[in-house]
Amino acid sequence: MAGPEFEVPKLTEYTDVPKIKVGAMAHVKSFPAAEVTQKFLGYPWTLTDDWQERAIGRMGELLGKYRSLRVFMDICVHCGACTDKCHYFLGTADPKNMPVARQDLMRQVYRRYFTLPGKIAPWLVGAKDLSKEVLDDWYNYYHQCSECRRCSVYCPYGIDTAEVTMAGREILNTVGMGQKYCSEILTKVQKIGNNLGLPGPALEDTLSGLEEDIEAETGVAVKMPLDVKGAEILFVTPSADFFSEPHVESLIGYAKVFHAAGASWTLSTSASEAGNFGLFNGSYETMQKIAMRIRDAALELGVKRIIVGECGHAWRVAYSFWNTLTGIGYGGNDPFSIELQKQLDPRFDQPMHICEYTWDLIQKGQLKFDKSLNDHRVITFHDSCNVARGSRMGDVPGGQFTIPRNVIMAVANNFHDMAAETIGEGTFCCGGGGGVLTDDLIEVRVKGALPRMNAFNNVVQNNGVNFLSLICAICKAQFTKVLPYYGFDRSMVGGVHQLVSTAILLD
Ligand code: SF4
Ligand code: SF4
Repeated sequence: MAGPEFEVPKLTEYTDVPKIKVGAMAHVKSFPAAEVTQKFLGYPWTLTDDWQERAIGRMGELLGKYRSLRVFMDICVHCGACTDKCHYFLGTADPKNMPVARQDLMRQVYRRYFTLPGKIAPWLVGAKDLSKEVLDDWYNYYHQCSECRRCSVYCPYGIDTAEVTMAGREILNTVGMGQKYCSEILTKVQKIGNNLGLPGPALEDTLSGLEEDIEAETGVAVKMPLDVKGAEILFVTPSADFFSEPHVESLIGYAKVFHAAGASWTLSTSASEAGNFGLFNGSYETMQKIAMRIRDAALELGVKRIIVGECGHAWRVAYSFWNTLTGIGYGGNDPFSIELQKQLDPRFDQPMHICEYTWDLIQKGQLKFDKSLNDHRVITFHDSCNVARGSRMGDVPGGQFTIPRNVIMAVANNFHDMAAETIGEGTFCCGGGGGVLTDDLIEVRVKGALPRMNAFNNVVQNNGVNFLSLICAICKAQFTKVLPYYGFDRSMVGGVHQLVSTAILLD
């Protein structure tokens, strides 16, 4: 690994609130989006001449459309409860990475153009003109927020900085200041079918190669079906599962679970991506277009159930947005939604998380394990932000916390949770979510991972933990990159279904 060009924070027992360093991260700029992808997405690709007018206009539209955004702009009392809750502030000490300061980048402009006091006496209410300098600050600091929503848990008013960040990015796109990483992925998923740009024939090849590997290893012909009309289950998973390590180990685990349950299931070429970066860009229109691929595939294949693989933000979009965006679950009254409602089996949650599916089978005694096969691992679990704070799982409150842990403890003997204040609802982000998982933001990613790394290091030192399990494709990619910066081996990271895969007994 090439040496880092920045100072990697030192691990400590507790993550202390740092001494403020003004402008510490002002130099970090995500690469700008290219013409070809922005054109495809319908945005300009260089700063437009009328950028100020456009930005204010788009901001007005968003404030009118999303009442929560206007409320968030109005109700902050600057109590400071959120200031030390962001991993990016804790890891970088840059005061503009405090959630309230991040919000204020937009709030000061909001006050100037959308409130009477701000129009009459801006200096009295902290209102500011939207200058190019302010816009540049938006670009820098709205790409140093992973939309993890941790700050909103501690805000007495529940102000959600993630929503402010999303609005900020949408406005930036509108004036021609898009981000390369999200722009490319949003283009690939719509043109090719997945974020990684893996075409249908390559996917087919990959799956048959994996089938051969599993058979060689286990002697059992576990299938990974693709585009099977009439299958009962449509399984959508992040495309990283098809070939990235350690993601692919979880894909093998899902396939083994389906095989052991005797399930009729299929993947889909056209919906070969569960991820939805529309959430990161802040464009609900794009999010809807991407989500529609799943509905179209479900209708075309005639499936009765839709199950989602290990991906944090994909699960949030599926659980919290699919119903109103596409009519999957309940909601949506267009003819296709109505047809889908008739088609999907009402006895099951639609959509369902793979952990929920596996846990249900375990409870019914339909899966058999040899837990000792995981005895070389001492496991902890990282709650991914979008699962922890943006969705639920199963029918019981807190199911998103208990179900994955129940699965782990059903397949392995050695499990230790990290410190209580760093998991569950208060979990620390991996540092790479929300459109930050790009090498041009590596400094942000490494420093933002500090609170999670501190908590992980404590269980490594005190409990001998050697495996960081999780259920998010972005967290897996982020940790495999960032762990070595903190002196850990990247192979310590893996999915919950990787553990399932190790212990499951197949006929
Ligand atoms: S990264 Fe998370 S904690 Fe930090 S401001 Fe964004 S939503 Fe809040
Ligand atoms: S905790 Fe909420 S009200 Fe207090 S400063 Fe932060 S965003 Fe504002």
